[in-house]
Amino acid sequence: MPAPGELTFIAPRGAAKPPRHLADLTPAERREAVAALGEKPFRAAQLSRHYFGRFTDDPAAWTDIPAAARERLAQALLPRLMTTVRHISCDAGATRKTLWRLHDGTLVESVLMRYPDRVTMCVSSQAGCGMNCPFCATGQAGLDRNLSTAEIVHQIVDGMRALRDGEVPGGPARLSNIVFMGMGEPLANYRRVVGAIRRLTDEGPDGVGLSQRGITVSTVGLVPAIHRLAGEGLSCRLAVSLHAPDDELRDTLVPVNTRWKVREVLDAAWEYAERSGRRISIEYALIRDINDQAWRADRLARLVRGRGAHVNLIPLNPTPGSKWTASRPEDQRAFVAALESHGVPVTVRDTRGQEIEGACGQLAAAER
Ligand code: SAH
Repeated sequence: MPAPGELTFIAPRGAAKPPRHLADLTPAERREAVAALGEKPFRAAQLSRHYFGRFTDDPAAWTDIPAAARERLAQALLPRLMTTVRHISCDAGATRKTLWRLHDGTLVESVLMRYPDRVTMCVSSQAGCGMNCPFCATGQAGLDRNLSTAEIVHQIVDGMRALRDGEVPGGPARLSNIVFMGMGEPLANYRRVVGAIRRLTDEGPDGVGLSQRGITVSTVGLVPAIHRLAGEGLSCRLAVSLHAPDDELRDTLVPVNTRWKVREVLDAAWEYAERSGRRISIEYALIRDINDQAWRADRLARLVRGRGAHVNLIPLNPTPGSKWTASRPEDQRAFVAALESHGVPVTVRDTRGQEIEGACGQLAAAER
């Protein structure tokens, strides 16, 4: 039986297994792997320090490891996982999208967004997505395959390296936030996503040493997986992509709703909030004349008020060929006002990256 959160709704197309990488392994597994190569177990910590701490997978830079051992360790534990197809920037370079090609030709995206006070990276957890939400570009293309833990981690490690080395306009910087809002449904690739969170938040030399509080996992609402996540003892933020307060509409906008209803999804989210100590973020893409009526705002407010949740409204980023578009400004204002009248904290997300096909999955779709 699949573990909760490992449910797949469409059979993955690509089945080629990514090569094993240091970031797939726990610290104990890394020591075993190094020993199996005939090396001293402490080489595992040296490699970890190079990769997670200095962002370097170039054996020439590992001067604390005998030259004869470097190539062997590199081949076995730090294979090249992905290559950059291209970077596309906008907002005077403050937004940079990377299109990656994985070892089997699969394409994924990540986006780096620079703000005056923070730097956020949006990463992919799967190549494609099986959730089939009709307004989302990734949803239209279906699921290629799950990313490995290391394929998730490397998007961030490479982004941190680029930031440190001043490759992103605005001078050298540190990463402050990670959002699992790129391609894929993170909770449908549960084990590898949680593994990635551990690698990213374990202290050095075992991991990158980022704060769990700066990580947001965004989900369509896979209820058993939310319960499981609540038991991990993490302090990451959970974002729930609600998009409609009523089951009738949500069944069409987020098809997995036919399996787990609005009430069940929110109950699981409140449990997560209680156990993690973090406020839930409710994501709501405003789609003109579809889900942006004031009565729906009122209904949404009644569902979430008093729970400490925050509503994040996202003006729809229309995907090519879609009949849907963003709400009229006056409807958006009325929606915000209705939520505020109930005392529900609400923000309208800035819509960065539209001109670089920043909407989830658009860049990879254009490449195909
Ligand atoms: N599968 C996860 C995470 C990836 S999508 C999830 O659904 O939460 C990240 C967010 O972007 C989700 O809230 C998703 O509904 C939203 N999104 C996808 N396509 C969009 C579009 N065209 N315009 C606005 N928001 C979109």
